[in-house]
Amino acid sequence: MATIADEVMTHIEKEIDASWEDEVAFLKDLVRYPSISGEEKPAQKMIANYLEKELDMKVDRFQPNIEKIKNHPGFSPVEWDYENSDIVIGQHFGEEQEKNSLILQGHTDVVSPEPVGLWSSPPYEPVVTDGKLYGRGAADMKGGLAAMIFAYRAIVRAGFEPKSNVMLQFVPDEERTGNGALAALHEGYTAKGALIPEPFGMKAAVAQVGSLWFRVKFRTVKKTEHGNVQANAIEKSQQVIAALKNFEKQLSESVTHPAFADQDNPLDMNLGVLEVGDFESNEPVTGKIEGRIALLPNETVNERKDQLREYIQQTFAKDDWFNDQPPEVEFYGFHAEATVSDDQTPLFKVLDASHEAVTGTYPERRSLPSTTDARFFHLYYDMDAICYGPDGGNFHEIDEWVDLESVKKVTKVYAYMLASWSGLKRIK
Ligand SMILES: [Zn+2]
Repeated sequence: MATIADEVMTHIEKEIDASWEDEVAFLKDLVRYPSISGEEKPAQKMIANYLEKELDMKVDRFQPNIEKIKNHPGFSPVEWDYENSDIVIGQHFGEEQEKNSLILQGHTDVVSPEPVGLWSSPPYEPVVTDGKLYGRGAADMKGGLAAMIFAYRAIVRAGFEPKSNVMLQFVPDEERTGNGALAALHEGYTAKGALIPEPFGMKAAVAQVGSLWFRVKFRTVKKTEHGNVQANAIEKSQQVIAALKNFEKQLSESVTHPAFADQDNPLDMNLGVLEVGDFESNEPVTGKIEGRIALLPNETVNERKDQLREYIQQTFAKDDWFNDQPPEVEFYGFHAEATVSDDQTPLFKVLDASHEAVTGTYPERRSLPSTTDARFFHLYYDMDAICYGPDGGNFHEIDEWVDLESVKKVTKVYAYMLASWSGLKRIK
């Protein structure tokens, strides 16, 4: 780890303060793009232009290629394509090349803002109130994207460049699969360490659960010798929901991990979609439920799939209605395993020192009740990757916000990290 003279860092911090209005304007521009997973391209193009024109980086832009990654153990199967998604990689080539190279990586996609009518102001029209910037993606994670770009920009504008290679990676489809991050790494865009500015309140993540998406389809009509018999699928859906919640309860009682001891229910199951019925005077006879179930470290995606399939089969084998046509279980989207990090690695120490330089304290640690792209770096590419980003709230909910002061502080912490991890060279 390089020691950076105080006067250099003071200079860089001043640059961040001086360009703060530009940074907020950039963040607002980014929030205006409705970059829902699968529709990231326009936002990615804007970022690519910025990196090329304003930061003089070499920029690679390409679509995730499913054919290339579909047999990778970290791949999540998709029911969609990447025609309107791409990956943007901004690269700085330092004189020491890979020696202390660093990736700053963030996802450009956001989740659905529905129901839009319940927002206090439209989700893609950023509004600042009391130091909070509101908008879909403001926290998760466009605030972090702005911070990583402006940290690098401040170093360059202050007249320096990192001695080792630096990559700014912007990836799509983090909210459904993580295949964007996987595709970037698979193409060889790796480094000695990575930082992911997820908005966890300036705390460093040391563990994250895994995530698996499922779909349960059921039918409430059957053919008999005397014609069809049927039941109401809306009413029967309650039985399927009850079974799923019972599966979650059984899991929570049997599986634990010390890294998640502080969480009430790390194996949370979220039911996200219920589709049944289409006309007031018809009796619905089909339905589907889609959701997400978590995994703890030491569990595998395949084990969890088998458990859920078997549980549904056994539960409904005893049921009068469903015994001869039990609900069917499918899996798609997230196939993500959990990870735990060692928080005393060289990269963590640099983060600790950088956070201390800006705030006067060490960053707290936390475990995450969700998955992030950090898992790919840890599990498949043997790289240290830390999630650490600004403070915000209401992610995946209405009225999402990011605390702007924390974005500024995080920008400074990233600049310190880049400087002390890679070292700086004066260029003007
Ligand atoms: Zn995120």
